[in-house]
Amino acid sequence: NWSLDDYSLQKRLYKGKMSSVYKGRCLRSGLPVALKVYFKARVPSNVIHMVLREVSIHLQACDQRNVLKLYGVFQTDELFVMVLEMAARGNLCGICRTVNGGRLTESQVRRVVLEPLLDSLSYLHGRGVCHRDIKPENILFTSEWEFRLADFGVSINLLEERAVTRAGTAEYMAPEVERCPLKSCPEDNKDNLSLAYSTAADVWSVGVLAYELLVGFPPLVGEGANGGSFNLSFPASVSPGGRDFITSALAPHPEERPTVLQLRNHPWLQAAQ
Ligand code: ADP
Ligand code: MG
Ligand code: MG
Repeated sequence: NWSLDDYSLQKRLYKGKMSSVYKGRCLRSGLPVALKVYFKARVPSNVIHMVLREVSIHLQACDQRNVLKLYGVFQTDELFVMVLEMAARGNLCGICRTVNGGRLTESQVRRVVLEPLLDSLSYLHGRGVCHRDIKPENILFTSEWEFRLADFGVSINLLEERAVTRAGTAEYMAPEVERCPLKSCPEDNKDNLSLAYSTAADVWSVGVLAYELLVGFPPLVGEGANGGSFNLSFPASVSPGGRDFITSALAPHPEERPTVLQLRNHPWLQAAQ
């Protein structure tokens, strides 16, 4: 039975179409929190179920150290409020802009981003959850520079639902996701079945993210990948191990991609430094 009276709001960190994120403090415990606030008036009635799904998936899947904690939720007449762990360093986009040269080193990409990301994804995938929106904006860091995966806004639990619609962000979207219609057509069940995709969609996004972090811009895939073949080109600065890691994650056919556990055990991540 939490309410807004239990928190002080200090500043707005983010403003989206339907929601804003505020830095706040729990008045009882004194602990810093982040409040993701959905304004009911800005949430169309056909989208309410997505907010509820975000909350329910996040609540059932945040018991892993690299996943942003959702402490609880409450609502008022005007708001849905998610009380989240505060990630004081903000998202990876902002962080990349402030580090020297706008790029992380290869060892930072491996140790600070990919290892914890793959650990959080293997936890999620093990529970049937496909995140579906892996990208720098949804990767946050705490004051202690600890990795936190955030934003379950388009996540899906594949034990409960089949993934048959396009969801996520274009640049990071796997070809099999790109091929799906934006809305499912229930009367056309057979068609939907053949389009159903798996957690391998997240593996593709990890490949795009790794490339972007090492190279400075996302790889030129998309159209080409949909056709089944494309050429990934790497600048000389990317090591052979990094190339192999990215190339395997960006296999056009989902069945040919490694699982997140296999990627976690890739020699490039196992190397001493
Ligand atoms: P959306 O679904 O609109 O993308 P997100 O949950 O991804 O919303 O949050 C949007 C942005 O707000 C993030 O990219 C990050 O910059 C900031 N943010 C979200 N949650 C937190 C948090 N717990 N701590 C700090 N910043 C946060
Ligand atoms: Mg987001
Ligand atoms: Mg979202």
